[in-house]
Amino acid sequence: MKSVKKFDKFGRVMKEIKKSGVAIYADPAGTEDLVVLSPYRINYIHSYAEDSKFFLGLAQGKLLGSICRNCKYKYGTPRSHCMECGSKTDWMELPLVGKVHSWTTCYFGSEEFLKETPFNLAVVEFEGVNTLFLSRLAGVKESDIFIGMKVKANFRKHPKYLVSDVYFTAK
Ligand SMILES: [Zn+2]
Repeated sequence: MKSVKKFDKFGRVMKEIKKSGVAIYADPAGTEDLVVLSPYRINYIHSYAEDSKFFLGLAQGKLLGSICRNCKYKYGTPRSHCMECGSKTDWMELPLVGKVHSWTTCYFGSEEFLKETPFNLAVVEFEGVNTLFLSRLAGVKESDIFIGMKVKANFRKHPKYLVSDVYFTAK
């Protein structure tokens, strides 16, 4: 009969799971927990609803924001209603150049992005637009990024209809 290896350190349990798919964790409370690896994958089908035009825009090399019909507040992202006055908004084409308002370098990320670390995220401001746009800043070393740096939008050649279809580079 095959025996399951037992560990009192969870790190060792994880190593064993990656090798054999099963281990026992002898926890500090005295319980022996059987831990198994179960691959898990789902297809997540969802609608972008009122934001759809933004994602279709990315596929055409356009960044679409929103402008309030009433107070003319300009948003650097899709927004169906104005957060200032509550009125409906219209779509508005954003400039494809902007500047770094703030930024960070990610050395850790969710599973999907972990293999791409480290990567830079920038909050981009556009001239005359009231709110900011968060995006990847590619092709620039961390030490070369600065607040106020001019950046331009680039679009994925083969769109995935994700917000990552757009990324910024130094202008
Ligand atoms: Zn408004």
